[in-house]
Amino acid sequence: MKVTEHIANAKRTLFSFEVLPSLKGRDIQDLYDGIEPLMEFNPSFINVTYHREEFVYKKLNNGLHERIAMRKRPGTVSICAAIKYKYGVDTVPHLICGGFTRDETEAALLDMHYLGINNVLALRGDPVKGESQFIPEKEGHANASTLVRQIAQMNHGHYIDDEIVEGIPTDFDIGVAGYPEKHFEAQNMKTDLRYLKEKVDAGAHYIVTQLFFDNAKFFQFVEDCRKAGINVPIIPGLKPITTLKHITFLPKTFHIDIPEALGDELEKCKNNADVMRVGIEWGIEQTKELIKAGVPCIHFYTMGKSEAVKQIVKGAY
Ligand code: FAD
Repeated sequence: MKVTEHIANAKRTLFSFEVLPSLKGRDIQDLYDGIEPLMEFNPSFINVTYHREEFVYKKLNNGLHERIAMRKRPGTVSICAAIKYKYGVDTVPHLICGGFTRDETEAALLDMHYLGINNVLALRGDPVKGESQFIPEKEGHANASTLVRQIAQMNHGHYIDDEIVEGIPTDFDIGVAGYPEKHFEAQNMKTDLRYLKEKVDAGAHYIVTQLFFDNAKFFQFVEDCRKAGINVPIIPGLKPITTLKHITFLPKTFHIDIPEALGDELEKCKNNADVMRVGIEWGIEQTKELIKAGVPCIHFYTMGKSEAVKQIVKGAY
C-alpha cells in the first residue's frame, strides 16, 4: 500500500521508521536485528536511506594517490524488497539526485516498480563529502523538484526515451523532504517554502520533515506551509538523542537547534546512559504532543539503533 493510502485509512496517528542499509561486507541480519524490536508496534511503512559514493585516496606503488569512488552502504532498493517480503510491510526506498543521470534514475525506478514497490522518497542529496556545494551529474537533476517531475511523468507512462510511445505507467506515491528549521542552504524560510511548494506542484504526495526537538517549530512550519498553499500531509520526523556525542553532532549535521529546556537537562548528563534516559523522556513527551495534535504519522529515524525508539513508542502510543 502507498504511504498516502495508509494515512487516508488511518484512525489514529501512524508509526513508521527509517533504517540505513548495512555497511558493505556486513550481513543483512544486522539490519533485521535493528528492525525486529520495532515490528510489534506494526509500522505502516519502513524507509531505507540511500547513500551515494564517497571518495577515498589510495596510495599507489609510485607514491601518487588515486581518487577512488566507493559506496559503503549499497543495496537500498533490494533491501526494501527483502524487508517487504520478509515482514509483509510496505517499504519506501530513498532516491537521490546526486550521482544519478536521468537515465539511471529511470532504471532505479523501474527496479522498484518490478519489485512491487510503489513508494519512493525523492531527495536531492547532500554535496559529496569535501565539496562545498551540490554538483549534479551532467544529465542529472540539480534539485529534488525535477526528480519529482520525472517520477510523476513515469506515473503517466512518459519515459526519457521518447521512442517509447505507450509506456507502462508506474504508480509511485512520492514523498519529499521538508525542513521546519529551514534547509541549511536556503536564503530564508520564504524561499525554502517556495521550493517546497515547487516539489508538491511537480507531483509530490506528502512531506516528511527533518528531525527536530521543538514541536512549536513543527507546528509553525505546518501553519506556514498551509498559508503557502502546500496542502499535502506533513509527517514529522523524530530522532531520539541517545549519546553525549549527539549533543554537538545532531545540531552540526542536521542544522537544527536543541531547545533550552532539553539542553539544560543534557548538561546534567555524565554519560551516555544519562543522555539516553533524558532523550527517551523528551521523545515520549514530544510524541504524545504530536499525537494529541493529530499528526497523520510519526516517522522515527533509528540510524541503526532501535532501543530508544522502542521505549518512546511504548511510552507514547
Ligand atoms: P531540494 O528540495 O532540492 O532543496 C535543496 C536546497 O535547494 C534547498 O535549500 C532549497 O531551498 C533549494 N532549492 C530547491 N529547489 C530550488 C530551485 N529550483 N532553485 C534554487 N534553489 C532551490 N540524503 C541522502 O543522501 N540520502 C537519504 O536517504 C536522505 N534521506 C533524507 C530523508 C529526509 C526525511 C530528509 C529531511 C533528508 C534526507 N536526506 C538524505 C538529506 C537531503 O538529501 C539533504 O537535506 C539535501 O541537502 C537536500 O535535499 P532535498 O531533497 O530537500 O533538496
